[in-house]
Amino acid sequence: MSPEHPANYRPETLAVSFGYDPAQALGAVKPPVYLSSTFIYPSAQHAKDIHRAYFDNEGPLVGSGSHIYARLGHPGLDILESRLAAIDGAEAAAAFASGMAAHSSIALAFVRPGDSVLHGRPIYGGVDMLYGAVMPEFGASVETYVDGTDPEGVRAAAAAAMAKGPLALIVAETPANPTAALVDLRLMVAVANEVAERQGRRPLVVVDNTLLGPFAQRPIAHGVDLCLTSLTKYCAGHSDLLAGGISGRLELVQKLRALRTTWGNHCDPFTAWLVVRSLESASVRIERAMLNARAVAGWLREHPKVAGVTYLGFLEEGSRARAVYDRQCTGAGSTFSFHLHGGEAESFRMLDRLRLLKLAVSLGGSETLICHSASTTHYAVPRDLRIAGGITDGTMRLSIGLEHPDDLIADLAQALEAV
Ligand SMILES: *Cc1c(COP(=O)(O)O)cnc(C)c1O
Repeated sequence: MSPEHPANYRPETLAVSFGYDPAQALGAVKPPVYLSSTFIYPSAQHAKDIHRAYFDNEGPLVGSGSHIYARLGHPGLDILESRLAAIDGAEAAAAFASGMAAHSSIALAFVRPGDSVLHGRPIYGGVDMLYGAVMPEFGASVETYVDGTDPEGVRAAAAAAMAKGPLALIVAETPANPTAALVDLRLMVAVANEVAERQGRRPLVVVDNTLLGPFAQRPIAHGVDLCLTSLTKYCAGHSDLLAGGISGRLELVQKLRALRTTWGNHCDPFTAWLVVRSLESASVRIERAMLNARAVAGWLREHPKVAGVTYLGFLEEGSRARAVYDRQCTGAGSTFSFHLHGGEAESFRMLDRLRLLKLAVSLGGSETLICHSASTTHYAVPRDLRIAGGITDGTMRLSIGLEHPDDLIADLAQALEAV
């Protein structure tokens, strides 16, 4: 661990080197990949001491000399977790094998039979499945709200959830994907506090911060309990791994770490190393991708074959969503949607003509990705629900990467001629 206190630095600085001390590894300026499944005890008494700490306290210790077995914790995990916590402005963090491993760990750690969960719609498909289909098999129920900036609607949904059972979690994904709908985090925290007064147990507020990432939106600073990031996306940023992170208060993170040793869904040493390496340049990559996205979104908005562009940077001045955006976000991200005049046939013709943009799901990589929402990410959503949620048969999601924006625009221009 670095001796420096993270509060002395900005997130961009912490992302470069926080959490790794070169003295830990023969002076190497960069951390090694600690490929070891198990760790030597310096003495039998030391072995007993660290097992006592593990079993009698809150779980695995962090730091050199305190590792037992890599599923419980390993040096690469310590570096990644202290760096992620510092960047997020949280007391602690835990890293998992994927974003969904992180989401399911929260569900299994904090929801019990009879409890209810409240989340917004739309939400990431895997999370929808987790709370809508998997957790009900364990006796939990779910309630959803549509507009995360509407105090009346959110309070009514919270009351409906409590009518089904004690509200354990309020889960928010903001901005939502692919509609760019925002959730007011201050409102979520206020509702959690009101619910606590009524049911005597405070629900945890969990925010999925994947879409903007840790530099353009800092949920912990807005009072939420847990900030979850699919590190697979912008933080790793090269579409070459899967990982997930959760930041928050030490007491909550310790519970997640302890349970993770049972579930075995930790982030492995090589992946942890890759994420740590990628975090160093994440803020610069994201900044450039956001600039590129602004250029492409602006160009698309003016194109005669485009019916509309759903991009955070175009939120109307004076709207409720714009007020939330101004308070919560310092950038509009680089993932957005546009809607063609026309349906699936027109969209497919355009997509099959693209040469530079790649046809794939996922987001946050260095390369620009595009997908037709209705037939891929939202395939399983009934058509009327999908259209009510703003996803037409001509909606395509773009995750803008690091190519030159003029080349991206030229490729879109020639492909749009096929429509
Ligand atoms: C991708 C994604 C996830 C899931 O992350 P994985 O690393 O793919 O498991 C969760 N939430 C959002 C918003 C995502 O985009």
